[in-house]
Amino acid sequence: MSAEKHFDVIVVGGGPVGLSAAWRSAAGGARVLVTDRFGFLNESCGSSGGERHWRVQYTQPDIFRLTLATAPLWKELEADTGRTLVHELGSLWFGDTHVPTNEGHIADTAAAMDELSVPYEWLSGKEIERRYGFRDLPAHFEGFLQPSGGAIDVRGTLAALVRQCHLNGVRMQSPERILAVEPGQDGVVVRSDRATYRADKVVLAANAHVNELIRPWGAGELDLHTYEMALVTLRDRGDGVRRPFWFAFQEPTAEDTNLFYGFPPNPWSNDGLARLGPDFEVDALADADLATGRPRPAHVERVSGWVRAHLPWLDPEPVSTGTCLAVLPGDPQRQFYLGTAEGLVEGGENVVVAAGGWAFKLVPLFGRICADLLSRGKTEHDIARHALTGLRAAVQ
Ligand SMILES: Cc1cc2nc3c(=O)[nH]c(=O)nc-3n(C[C@H](O)[C@H](O)[C@H](O)COP(=O)(O)OP(=O)(O)OC[C@H]3O[C@@H](n4cnc5c(N)ncnc54)[C@H](O)[C@@H]3O)c2cc1C
Repeated sequence: MSAEKHFDVIVVGGGPVGLSAAWRSAAGGARVLVTDRFGFLNESCGSSGGERHWRVQYTQPDIFRLTLATAPLWKELEADTGRTLVHELGSLWFGDTHVPTNEGHIADTAAAMDELSVPYEWLSGKEIERRYGFRDLPAHFEGFLQPSGGAIDVRGTLAALVRQCHLNGVRMQSPERILAVEPGQDGVVVRSDRATYRADKVVLAANAHVNELIRPWGAGELDLHTYEMALVTLRDRGDGVRRPFWFAFQEPTAEDTNLFYGFPPNPWSNDGLARLGPDFEVDALADADLATGRPRPAHVERVSGWVRAHLPWLDPEPVSTGTCLAVLPGDPQRQFYLGTAEGLVEGGENVVVAAGGWAFKLVPLFGRICADLLSRGKTEHDIARHALTGLRAAVQ
């Protein structure tokens, strides 16, 4: 096989996780190919929209330690690219403090912050209303502000990662869809809609599409559920109040998970537009290719209703709407899949899988962990919870 078709590492999927893994592997000296089915910086998968929530706090202490380990890597990426990517606006969690959600649990997370000596300020619902202008919050609502949380610039991060890939000699090809990944004793055969390649190691970073490549191994598939979640952009009336990112924890309704979050206008675009979302894990897609790019009108109306009830600084009429594919494990305690496919298929130790969860905040660390698993077969970080175990029978 020609040098053009043989790589040390092939990364399937050029979203932020795949780009980070490709960059870190190439920086370690590997010849790397990364391909993307839709194109780098596409808005069709899990990384659409302008912002992501940066938070260090997690309910699970081992994941909490991963976010703490990620923080300096964001600083390194910012220093390398000369651009602020994580904006420390603060992270405000409030609502029912004992409701378990896929995001976490307010009271248990406060306990975890105490345990790890991470600073936060506990706030009553009245104080949250007074300070940030929310209105008519239920009387029992309370929560915390973690000051170093905030918002990540998604497009800035993707541009920074593409730059790191270029600087480190990663070969980047798109649109190119990988159709099959076949590990064996002598490495991995990777078949695309353009060519057949051979690689010593492979990273599967195809997120919502990862099971298409795992299913043919015959060991089952990852227990991931894909939701096409609404993104709603609203005009901020501009009352001069400096607000953090916020997430409202509430008891679920009969129809949905009743969770809402919002970003203030971006410091990096200065357009006076706020983005809100319903975090509704309902109506999972049978196949990620069934995504329409159009949110359910009922979900957009739920966001506008929440704004009318509690957020007087926003115009409840959406300026625009969109969607994003949230890919979440069935077990919310797991949060992500991250590990090798050892034991699932012959040669599985040569394949690393990173998929699912609220993973944007962990992108710089996940790239490094993938590169370490490929080059050394291990990582110093505790990722036991995220191992490729508990697969479900393949959905045909
Ligand atoms: C509404 C919403 C809000 C979120 N909020 C947060 C948040 O606040 N904080 C946070 O940390 N995270 C958040 N997340 C999660 C975060 O956005 C994702 O974890 C992250 O963007 C996923 O990146 P990725 O690279 O794994 O996947 P993706 O960005 O989905 O990239 C996967 C790539 O693989 C490519 N691909 C797929 N199949 C193939 C194939 N066969 N061949 C080649 N290429 C292929 C796709 O084209 C795609 O570009 C949110 C997600 C959503 C949807």
